[in-house]
Amino acid sequence: MKRRFKVVFNREKCKGCELCINFCPKGILALDPEVNAKGYHPAGIVDQEKCIGCASCATMCPDYCISIYQLEDGEEYETSESQAKQM
Ligand code: SF4
Ligand code: SF4
Repeated sequence: MKRRFKVVFNREKCKGCELCINFCPKGILALDPEVNAKGYHPAGIVDQEKCIGCASCATMCPDYCISIYQLEDGEEYETSESQAKQM
């Protein structure tokens, strides 16, 4: 079975610098049109299923806002927001 990954952003920590977006080889990250509490447009993932788990986004983020998890067989993608709030 194909490996699947879930990318979780801490949207309140993100300052919208776009580094992660520019370094994602799959082009699946984008800024949210809505702002976070600090007034920044936070980054998020647009198409979770296309993620290859390369971790370029997490490596590039200067503020450690991104976590990547490999999903178990049969495990569903969840909303990233509830996870992000736990961090
Ligand atoms: S892990 Fe790689 S493919 Fe997935 S969102 Fe981050 S940079 Fe893109
Ligand atoms: S690199 Fe980090 S701070 Fe910059 S937009 Fe991406 S998640 Fe936000």
